[in-house]
Order: sequence, then structure tokens, then C-alpha cells
Amino acid sequence: MIEYQGPASYWAETSQHTPGPVVTGRHDVDVAIVGGGFTGMWTAYQLLDAEPSMRVAVIEREVVGFGASGRNGGFAMTLLDMSLAHLRRNHGDTAAAAAHEAVAESVGEIDATIEADGIECEWKHGGLMVVATCAAQLERVEAELEAAEALGLDGFKRLSREEARAEVHSPTYVGGLREEHCGVVHPAKLVRGLARVVSSRGADVFEGTDVTTIEEAGGRIRVVCPQGEITADQVVLATNAWAAETPWFARKVLPLYTYIAMTEPLSDAQWDSVGWESHCGIEDKRNFVHYYRRTLDGRILWGGSDGIVYYGGRIAPRHDRSEGILKRLTATFHRTFPQLPDVGFTHHWGGPVGITVSFLPIFGTLLEGRLHYGLGYNGHGVAPSHTGGKILRDKVLGRRTGLTELCFVDSKEYTFPPEPLRWIGAELTRQSLLRQDTRFEAGRGSGAMEPLLLRAMRKLG
Ligand SMILES: Cc1cc2nc3c(=O)[nH]c(=O)nc-3n(C[C@H](O)[C@H](O)[C@H](O)COP(=O)(O)OP(=O)(O)OC[C@H]3O[C@@H](n4cnc5c(N)ncnc54)[C@H](O)[C@@H]3O)c2cc1C
Repeated sequence: MIEYQGPASYWAETSQHTPGPVVTGRHDVDVAIVGGGFTGMWTAYQLLDAEPSMRVAVIEREVVGFGASGRNGGFAMTLLDMSLAHLRRNHGDTAAAAAHEAVAESVGEIDATIEADGIECEWKHGGLMVVATCAAQLERVEAELEAAEALGLDGFKRLSREEARAEVHSPTYVGGLREEHCGVVHPAKLVRGLARVVSSRGADVFEGTDVTTIEEAGGRIRVVCPQGEITADQVVLATNAWAAETPWFARKVLPLYTYIAMTEPLSDAQWDSVGWESHCGIEDKRNFVHYYRRTLDGRILWGGSDGIVYYGGRIAPRHDRSEGILKRLTATFHRTFPQLPDVGFTHHWGGPVGITVSFLPIFGTLLEGRLHYGLGYNGHGVAPSHTGGKILRDKVLGRRTGLTELCFVDSKEYTFPPEPLRWIGAELTRQSLLRQDTRFEAGRGSGAMEPLLLRAMRKLG
């Protein structure tokens, strides 16, 4: 067994993996999938489920789960756009309800697949608790509940301050909501487990293989790698934030880093002081949310608080840690749980998510109908990538279904400005969102999230 070769994350340390072969020589397949994360694996899974004899290859540059899929918080939740209220405002009631319901269904199907295929990945279907820590955040919780009611969605429940604090004992909570359709998972174990399942059903999972070129060749597609190549009828691009390295998506997907800190295991007495029996995932209602959850071995994963766009949208191993954000994460953890003053942190890591101007993922088709893509989940891809796998299956099979009609499929795609304007815009947006978070927490003002760069680029069309 070779240890996971990703950043020094807790998930890396607790997930082992035997990498697949490198692409050498020539191969011929029906579908080649570029990217060994959740999108790539769920697409392979869905294709083989629909057409068991299909010849499918997945090609991953590093190891399966190297990207965001092996580094995330592990929340499989329904959230698309910045909030349900935004989704409704931007796309109307019918489209918003359909998109939400598609992802809610995915949460249930992820649960069922884990069970049916015996994937050991510490799945807990404990729901999501969204908490407010100030009056302005409470208004946002109310807006979510109002949106859920207007869309006729099930599974949402308002929480009073006392109910939120009874669930998890933090003196910072002033209210919140519970949503049923959410589970937490060990993400690296899930994505690796999926790789094992699709391999056992006949897919080739290649690792350590950089795809350098994708081009048309006599009515088929050539996927060129340093030591070999694969010819396919169709290709699926599932590289999320890394898609920004291609000319197709350089201006459409912006890599943004988000970071996580993991505590040491808490003692039984410390857990008694916190509660949290349900193992629900928790998010607050800041612009730059805090997301946090328990692990099965008794730790707390604490993430969010800020997000960084590096100049040129660069993705590089040196960005896998941020000492400044780690300091802020530990401070906000201790503010949320003052009863845990001595709890230390053992792991810190980060990774890139793909931001789009619409703040929704983009799914579409290029190269005369032979290259399909699904990427840019804006930090919310764990469950939506399952929905994405089904959308990409339908695209490959040429099916028109409810999934291919969702509001983020074959939809208008906006572009970011070129550098240095993009970085300046992203940084000004970040600063203004952080200032708004601070103002709200100090009890001043209220209102919606206003990401300046995204608003400006949508206006420009
Ligand atoms: C720190 C962090 C916390 C997060 N927390 C959550 C959360 O709790 N809940 C949630 O819903 N979402 C969360 N997300 C987002 C979520 O992880 C992603 O949206 C999701 O994993 C995207 O999956 P993917 O398969 O599309 O992309 P990725 O998992 O990023 O996979 C893309 C893969 O493509 C490979 N690749 C790139 N270029 C090439 C190439 N040329 N050739 C071959 N391979 C290539 C990469 O190595 C990578 O493995 C988080 C993300 C991060 C970084």
C-alpha cells in the first residue's frame, strides 16, 4: 500500500491507496475521463451502471483524490449558488426548485451507493445545521427558510437560539435552521472507494498521468499524455479548478483556495461539554462561512473563514498551507467553543475550488459534441458532483433528460477580466466581504452578500 500523495491532510494520513498504472503506449476506449476526483469517478460509475460493456478510462495527473475531492470538509449538502435565496432570485422558482431537488436526490443516492457497494468512508447522514452568530446572519437564515417554503421544499426546520445551543453547545449561536438532506463523509475514502468500484466493473483508472493535449482526430478524440495516448469517441473533462489551465476555461473558472484546521481527538469530558450527538455538519452565515464537523475518531474539522485567489489563478503546492488563515481558524474555533481552551490542532491544509461568475457549476459540450465538461462547483461539489456524474452520463449517451435541462447545464457562461484586473477585482471583493462579516458580527448593518467582481462581470454579460 502506498500512502496518499496529496497535501498533508488528515484525510491523506488516514486513507491508503494503491495507485493505478501510468498511461503508456496506445489505448482505445469509448469514453476517456480526465480528472480523478468525484466528478470523474461518479461519471465513470454512472456510465458503467447504464452501459456495463462501455470501455471507460479515467486519467488522473497525480493520484485519485489529489484535488479538492480528497481535501474537502466532507459535507454532502444541497447548497448551490451562494444560498437558496440567491438561487431563487437568479433563476426563478421552477429552476431553483429543480436544481435543489436534483442535488437533494444525490445526497440520498450517495448514501445508497455507499451502502450497496460496501464503500467504507465513515458516512453519517446527520443533516446540516446552519447557525447564525449575529442578527444580520439570522436575517439570512430567515431568508433561506422563506425561500425553502416558497419553493415547497421539504426537510427544513427553524431553530431557536435555545434549540441550536442544545444541539451543539456554543454561546455564539443566536438561532439557525436544520436541513435533513446532508451527510458527512471521509472524502478521500469515498473517492478512492469509487475508484475501486469502477475498476472492478472494468474501467481503467490511470494515475500519475498528465493529460497534455485533447484534440479532434478523424472524428474521434486524442488524449495525449507524456508516455502514451488514448483515442476515445468522447471525452469528459472533470478537472474542476485545474480547468483554468486550459484555454477553454482560463477566463471562466477562477481557482480560489479554502483552508481547514483539524483538532486533536477530544476527550469524553470535552465532548460532553460540546454535545453534537447527531454528527450534523455545521455552517454559519458569514460571507466567508465557517464549516465544521466531527470525525469518527473524535476530532473537529474547522474550515473556512477566508478564501484566497493567488495572482494569475495559480495552483501550486506552496499554497496548500496558509499560516495567516490557520491563526484565524484557531482563534475563531476557540471563540465558538470557549469550553475547549486547551484543544490543540494537529493538521492544516487547503485546496483550490473553482469559482464561476454565475456562482453555479458549468456543464456543457465542446469539440463538435465529443467533449463534455462539468466543473466550477464554487466550493460545493461533494453532492453536486454526483448530480454532475449523472448529467455527464446523459450527455455522453445523448439523452435529453430533466438533468440536462437544469439551469446550470448548457447555460450562459460569463468570463472574468484578464489579469491584473481579475486579481485586483477578486482581492477587492474579498476585502469588502470580510469587512461586511466583521461589521455584522459587531452588530452593525444587515443585508445580502455582495460579491462585487461577480456582480460586475454578470452585468457586463
Ligand atoms: C478545502 C476544501 C474544502 C471543501 N469542502 C467542501 C465541502 O465540505 N462540501 C462540498 O460540497 N464541497 C467542498 N469543497 C469543494 C469540493 O471538494 C469540490 O467541489 C469537488 O471535490 C470537486 O470535485 P472534482 O472531481 O470536480 O474536482 P477535483 O477533486 O479537484 O479533481 C480534479 C482532478 O483533476 C486532476 N487533473 C487536473 N488537471 C489534469 C490533467 N491535465 N490531467 C489529468 N488530471 C488532471 C487533478 O489532479 C484533480 O485530482 C471543498 C474544497 C476544498 C478545497
